[in-house]
Amino acid sequence: MSRRILIAGNWKMNKTSAEGAELVNGIRSALTDCCADKLPEVLVCPPFLDIATAVCAAKGSAVEVGAQNVHWASSGAYTGECSTAMLLDAGCTHVIVGHSERRQYFGETDATVNKRAKAAVDAGLVAVVCVGETLEERESGATTKVVGRQVREAFSGFSANDMSKVVVAYEPVWAIGTGKVATDEQAQEVHAFIRKTLGEMFGSECGDSVRILYGGSMKPGNAAGLLKQKDIDGGLIGGASLKADDFVAIIKAAMA
Ligand code: PEP
Repeated sequence: MSRRILIAGNWKMNKTSAEGAELVNGIRSALTDCCADKLPEVLVCPPFLDIATAVCAAKGSAVEVGAQNVHWASSGAYTGECSTAMLLDAGCTHVIVGHSERRQYFGETDATVNKRAKAAVDAGLVAVVCVGETLEERESGATTKVVGRQVREAFSGFSANDMSKVVVAYEPVWAIGTGKVATDEQAQEVHAFIRKTLGEMFGSECGDSVRILYGGSMKPGNAAGLLKQKDIDGGLIGGASLKADDFVAIIKAAMA
């Protein structure tokens, strides 16, 4: 089963529209000398307000643009939220759902992750669904219990066909923005567990075909080792996606 590597940048609450366009231009121009059929899929996820200019800057290049969140309702009184139709209209192809910062600071639950992800795939967006344990959960031996629950609840009610529009991102919370990266072996172990869980839910063919990204302090210096792991199909990158040089170095590590 061949799974195309996906290198995705989560800009979080960083960059004005002009800064975002400059970053996209930096990425696209650094990739012009790369052989197109060796390139991984490349995605940037700016804040909502930067999406339109990022889409404009990415036009005609290999860079795709996604959002960092989406609401499940098609419209209505949901202050501060955006719908799938709005994201598609702005030119998004993907949306991140259930990032640990949304779970931690904005009351995101497994149930709302499920609703957002289902709305995204039903609308034709690729849902990049984040799961991952806290340090306390890892240290108490609860990693697979927590990640297993997050995966089962995020995709409850999905069909195998829905899963073709899903990417899972394993992001151990203790590794996000901390500079503390999971070892290649720690990451591979949880990725294999997620794949097994998806296989139990949707059949092994589906489990084998869903891409699972690693996220948590992925940098140019550690990307190659992580990306070589059998069940790691790319990265969701925060800090290192804010500088074109670092992000491109990770893209190139995926091509090696
Ligand atoms: C993230 O926000 O998804 C992330 C992985 O951040 P960082 O790379 O900065 O740890």
